[in-house]
Order: sequence, then structure tokens, then C-alpha cells
Amino acid sequence: GSRPAPARVGQAETENSGRPEADAHPAQEFGHDPLTVRDTDHYTSEYVRGFVEKWDELIDWKKRYESEGSFFVDLLRSYGAKSVLDVATGTGFHSVRLVEEGFDTVSVDGSAEMLAKAFENGLDHGGHILRVVHADWRWLSKDVPGQFDAVVCLGNSFTHLFSERDRRKALAEFYAVLKPDGILVIDQRNYDAILDGEFSGEHTYYYCGEEVTAEPEYVDEGLARFRYRFPDDSQYHLNMFPLRKDYLRRLLREVGFQRVETYGDFQETFRADDPDFLVHVAEKS
Ligand code: SAM
Repeated sequence: GSRPAPARVGQAETENSGRPEADAHPAQEFGHDPLTVRDTDHYTSEYVRGFVEKWDELIDWKKRYESEGSFFVDLLRSYGAKSVLDVATGTGFHSVRLVEEGFDTVSVDGSAEMLAKAFENGLDHGGHILRVVHADWRWLSKDVPGQFDAVVCLGNSFTHLFSERDRRKALAEFYAVLKPDGILVIDQRNYDAILDGEFSGEHTYYYCGEEVTAEPEYVDEGLARFRYRFPDDSQYHLNMFPLRKDYLRRLLREVGFQRVETYGDFQETFRADDPDFLVHVAEKS
């Protein structure tokens, strides 16, 4: 299939400018050839404050609640889950929802910036005090004591891991912090559809309304580079690993999960035939 043109360097990015990290609003830095950035550890520098704040300002949490419905909450309840570890807290959307629904929730993220924002959002959305833990998935059990009925890794987060070794390590850690009959709920974009060329042209990836578009700018089997555009014409990127559905299902089984169920879309999107998102539910025993 035809590939989109290489990255355009937009307003919100700079080439390696050598500016100090302590900048109040650092730009994203992908260097002179963004397509070579295929590194698990890069995620912390992709979620710069400007991006995170714009995202949260435009993605109306109420609308997101509505479009996601009660899918995850119902799912967790159907398994009788009471304690939940949200390993991809981000700005806190799922954590806050879980706390509101009465789940005993601990919120993890590898980005301190994200956790700070999540904590603030918890207070702003109902005065909740989130229990946050700064940890990388690959060393999760070292930082998070105890075991949980469920681990959730939502919002297309697992895609940040670029090597199979990191993926296996992270999944093994998720497995370890689950109680014997616990479940892992992990979602992903439908990268098969994107890799197999169905994204070219008509498909517009609006995200929760028409204010933010999130579209694949470049893909190959080892990289999906997405561009996020905002109404003020600023744009940001994320470099992600395009997980194929059956590959992730296989990994889940190989690290020890006994049953893996995969669901199609849970949220309303502007899509053609294929779901934009997939949700895997993996049972420990
Ligand atoms: N679940 C939230 C949502 O849907 O709004 C946030 C999703 S955000 C796309 C992905 C989050 O995963 C980021 O906050 C990022 O810092 C975190 N993350 C990515 N790789 C990680 C890792 N190896 N360890 C811990 N957190 C990681």
C-alpha cells in the first residue's frame, strides 16, 4: 500500500535543539529522523506537558464516559473484582472512574508528570484522592505491594513497548501482581487494520468528538507513528509499536494466562467496518 509522506516537523516539535529539559513547556523531541525512534524508554519524553494539557482540555471526560459506557465497569463486576490496579493511569480518566464506581484502586504510571496531572484531576473530578505509584511496568512488583483482583492497562498503552523482551517482562509483572483468579484487561488499537492498509484515505480518526484527530502518519511492522492534531493547529506525535491482535493474544498465553477473550469496539468511533479498538481479557487461572 502507499505510505504517507514522512514526518512534517510541526509547531509543537523541534529538532534536537539542545534546550534544557527543565523548560516549562518542553517540546517533543524525536531527533532528525523520527522514524528511527523505536525505544521503550522514550515514552516519558513523548508525553510533554503541552500535549497532556491540551489533550485533557479537549477530551471532555463526560463525553468520554458516555462513549465508553459501562463496558469496563460491567466487565470487572462480572468477574467479582473489587481491587484494581490501573497500570496506565495517564491523566487519570480510568482511575477516577474506577474509584467513583467503588473499586479499591491503585494508580500506576511510569511518568511522574502524568501522575501529578492524574492526582490533580482526581481532586477536580469529585474530590478523590488517588493512590498513585510511580513505577515502570517492567519492575512493577518491586514498587507495588500486594495482589489485585484485576489489572487494567487501557487507552492503547501497551503499544509503548518496543521489544518483545519488554512486553514479556511487563506481562509477567502484571501476572505477578494478580491474585490467583485475577484478570488482566488490556486494550489496543486495531493495528491489523492499519498495517494491512485499510487506513489510507477515507478513515478519519477523530477522538471523542471532532476536536482532536489521531491519525497514523507512518506505519511499518515495527513502528506506528501517530499524529495528534488540535484545533489551534498544534500537533504532537507518539511513536508506538503496532501490536497485531493474534500476536498479543499469543504472548498473553505464553506468559501463563489461561484464557484470553478478545472484544471489538467498546467506544463509539467514526469507523468503516473494522473496530478501531480491541479489548483483551486474560484470566490468570
Ligand atoms: N489510560 C489512560 C487513558 O486512557 O487516558 C492513559 C493512556 S496513555 C496513552 C499511556 C500511559 O502509559 C502514559 O501515561 C505512559 O506514561 C504510560 N506508560 C507507557 N509505558 C509505560 C511503562 N513502561 N511503564 C509505566 N507506564 C507506562
